[in-house]
Amino acid sequence: MFGFGKGKDEKKAEPAKAAPAPAAAPVAPGVATAVPVASAIPRGPMNGLMQDWKLTVDKVIDHAFQNHGQREIVTRTVEGPIVRSTYADLYYRSRQVSNALLADGVQKGDRIATLAWNTTRHIETWYGTMCIGAVLHTLNPRLFPEQIAWIINHAEDTHVFYDITFQPIIEAIKDKVPSVKHWVVLTDAAHKPQTTMNVRTYEEYIAGKSTDVVWGDFPEDTACGLCYTSGTTGDPKGVLYSHRSNVLHTLIGMQHDAIGIGAKDTVLPVVPMFHANAWGIAFSAPAVGSKLVLPGAKMDGESIYQLLNDEKVTFTAAVPTVWLMLLQHLEGANLKLPLLKRVVIGGSAVPERILRAFEENYDVEVVHAWGMTEMSPLGSLGAMTENVMAQDRETVVRYKLKQGRAPFGVEMKTINDEGTLLPRDGKTAGRLVVRGPAVAKGYFKNAGGNILDDQGFFDTGDVANLDEHGYMQITDRAKDVIKSGGEWISSIDIENFAVGHPAVANAAAIGLPHPKWDERPLLIIELKPGAAATGDEILNFLNGKIAKWWMPDDVAFVEKIPLGATGKINKLALRATFKDHKLPTIQAAE
Ligand code: AMP
Repeated sequence: MFGFGKGKDEKKAEPAKAAPAPAAAPVAPGVATAVPVASAIPRGPMNGLMQDWKLTVDKVIDHAFQNHGQREIVTRTVEGPIVRSTYADLYYRSRQVSNALLADGVQKGDRIATLAWNTTRHIETWYGTMCIGAVLHTLNPRLFPEQIAWIINHAEDTHVFYDITFQPIIEAIKDKVPSVKHWVVLTDAAHKPQTTMNVRTYEEYIAGKSTDVVWGDFPEDTACGLCYTSGTTGDPKGVLYSHRSNVLHTLIGMQHDAIGIGAKDTVLPVVPMFHANAWGIAFSAPAVGSKLVLPGAKMDGESIYQLLNDEKVTFTAAVPTVWLMLLQHLEGANLKLPLLKRVVIGGSAVPERILRAFEENYDVEVVHAWGMTEMSPLGSLGAMTENVMAQDRETVVRYKLKQGRAPFGVEMKTINDEGTLLPRDGKTAGRLVVRGPAVAKGYFKNAGGNILDDQGFFDTGDVANLDEHGYMQITDRAKDVIKSGGEWISSIDIENFAVGHPAVANAAAIGLPHPKWDERPLLIIELKPGAAATGDEILNFLNGKIAKWWMPDDVAFVEKIPLGATGKINKLALRATFKDHKLPTIQAAE
């Protein structure tokens, strides 16, 4: 016998009063048996012995300070000039913001709003707020003032930090938002806008504040960020991120096949921080130590090209509309993109023309991404698998135009209306439902009630198929909204106003494909019996009631608007009927 072959002898040595051992299985000659020792460990689940390292976002900025302190952050300021700073500067100035907020009496859980482009000051406000346990609430400046005021009131924000360009919006809402006690304009004294309001400039606000502050003294499930989405029906709803969900989302995004940036990258998030955390880049870039380039208020082709070229950007991300503007500029001026390696495009479907232009004319890899505010937002990304890449170019293009694959940390499946799981065959479309540590389980103040099914899945409102390689493809949208240039247009608001016209019996707004804006609204009208109205009359009627960019591109008349089983307008049927309808604005855009 060798090694531990003392089993039989030890059995003999057991104390006489020990409970009789269960009958041993016959042992083949020469085979060692286990050593039965009285165990001090009770049977049952056992805790691991690893440290409790709270998943709070102050860890991200601490890490950046310790490990990438001198890595550069470049901002095209809203005032104009390009300024340079570092992650160490970001760390110290964020701490000053924290102390300024604490001096105002801000407590954990208070909501601090920003109405701001991507700039260093915005990121300082972001970390300065979150790291003391207050909630950073990004406001979308593309909404019209009444909606912004509604959202501020719903969130009960106490502070609004805003860019100088948004002074007119602030003037329009200032008397309608009683919870706001502090207005801080993100600039210095020299650029303070003309106003009679009691406004402090950001530089005055943090001047002389100590950098000494306690960060992260709260549990990891503390609320961290708030972002309202209009991507569902009814009023906008607040998605309330936690520290834990943001840290886990950062790790999800840092996977090689996800956003996958590293310390050698120079990253330009054109996607705004008010679009679901700039797709996580405001966290993942400092976490890995990428050089960060922030575009401020300028997102036109020439301005973006300048930053890409001058700052040697290797990775960038934005909605398709931004890339159309860039490509137009590149083509017009006969420019190249020799340093850019990868561009993540999401928020709406990537048009084939953009995909081919980047990959075939500029040698830049396109990663098509899908996500939602409710998912922090990453849901799927078009990293290629080996077996797809082995196929011919046209097949690869077809895969790249799909919405991509779920990274680790996102569970995704498709089901039918009865909740039955659908096959991953690349054909059968159904409701896309998702689950994960960075997916919402409810909206702020319980708006909309329970949003999860009995297995904890969230219905995205998108209709999609999944294939055998895990690629997801959106085929339709069950939710009643139109996405134009990356921003939501509420079909319900358009319809509600349209049915106010005396000749209109029923109205439905649907999104139709558009080469520049991805989707533009078509208004479909059912007239009252015997009534008459032209498309122009109806559009004139809407004029002044809805934001200009929400104005439908065309009006179509039908005998009867189809209704579904529950009496709701059947948008899927209308989209099928009007799928070949060509909007008159398309020619102008081509
Ligand atoms: P938001 O919450 O504003 O980010 O909008 C999320 C919604 O935008 C998704 O549920 C989709 O309907 C749409 N969306 C986002 N990315 C894509 C994409 N790559 N292709 C098609 N639709 C998309």
